[in-house]
Amino acid sequence: MARRPTGRPETRLAHSGRSSSSSGRSVNPVVERGSTMLASQASELYAPSMQPYGRHGTSTHAALREALGQLEGGASDVILAPSGLMACTLPLLAVAEPGAHFLVSDTVYGPTRRFCDRTLGKLGCTTEYFAPEIGAGIAGRLRKETRAVFIESPGSLTFEISDTPAIAAAARAAGVATVFDNTWAAGVWHHPLDLGVDVSVQATTKYVSGGSDVLGGAIFTRDSALAQRMRDTAMDLGVSVSPDDAYLTLRGLRTLPARMAQHQATGLALARWLASHPAVLRVLHPALEGDRSHELWKRDFSGASGLFGVVLKPAPAHAVHAVLDALELFGMGFSYGGFESLAIHCDPQIKRTATKLALGGPLVRISAGLEAPADLIADLEAALAGYPAG
Ligand SMILES: *Cc1c(COP(=O)(O)O)cnc(C)c1O
Repeated sequence: MARRPTGRPETRLAHSGRSSSSSGRSVNPVVERGSTMLASQASELYAPSMQPYGRHGTSTHAALREALGQLEGGASDVILAPSGLMACTLPLLAVAEPGAHFLVSDTVYGPTRRFCDRTLGKLGCTTEYFAPEIGAGIAGRLRKETRAVFIESPGSLTFEISDTPAIAAAARAAGVATVFDNTWAAGVWHHPLDLGVDVSVQATTKYVSGGSDVLGGAIFTRDSALAQRMRDTAMDLGVSVSPDDAYLTLRGLRTLPARMAQHQATGLALARWLASHPAVLRVLHPALEGDRSHELWKRDFSGASGLFGVVLKPAPAHAVHAVLDALELFGMGFSYGGFESLAIHCDPQIKRTATKLALGGPLVRISAGLEAPADLIADLEAALAGYPAG
């Protein structure tokens, strides 16, 4: 029985994308693997309604798209990508043309920046970076060749919140599309499309899947013309997502709101404890009272994930490495949003060209997992005991 999902977001996430199970009896949809998709009669093969080939997706992908449509405050079009990075790059590629100009936040995820500089550059496009605090000032940077403004907020590694409604309004007034990387808030705590943004994207690799075992991306929009351009670009590139990966992503999505609540609580507990530790210069967490982005976060977000930064008091890199090596419960690896906590030294990967970054000490990024907060704090306390500035 296919039920129409109703109710609050958590309820709709649990009940949408459920109608494709083959027998109609299992809770979850089947993993429909297929390259060849058979038509039932010859005249059907070229019909517009026919999903002609596996690359365009199967019923498993349709179930995931339907359920993702409940995130982000609701999107009329959801496009799947095989990675979060491709969810970031497809919208830009869809509007790129020789001579086009792009405005991108200086705090953008590193590989998105690399795509803009290298691949968009090769297509004859130029990318200019803007300070995350630019707000309505973006109007002065828009040109007649500008095709998109790309925002990521909070910024990668440094967690500044941008005035998204002001940026989106200025871009819209000039007829320029806005794209927003919403991975940090997972589409649960922040709805860019409700703030005037045209396209929201996420690495579902992170919080949506939640298991650190599958890569994926999703693109959300309410602009059907733009959606068609992005789908055409995906089709031309041969973008496809494995049905098994779509299934795993959908399974993670069901429990996303409950996990986000715990990631938020644990992240805040760790951030507050770290903020008062003598080895810590400051904590970069927009949901912390007194953070430089706290007011904008309160205005535009309804919650926080478990990812934040810690600036330690100045000390050589080997002292920072010693703290990270002493941690027992925090893994050292890229990505975030999984059930296990992570901690990494960020200084080597920070890239800024439009702004000067002066943090005052080494930067460590914490991804608060689902372990007991008291255990994580005890682990941090033991590891920080030997830090020279402590
Ligand atoms: C991880 C991440 C991406 C890229 O996602 P992948 O699935 O690893 O390609 C993009 N943007 C942000 C903000 C991310 O954290």
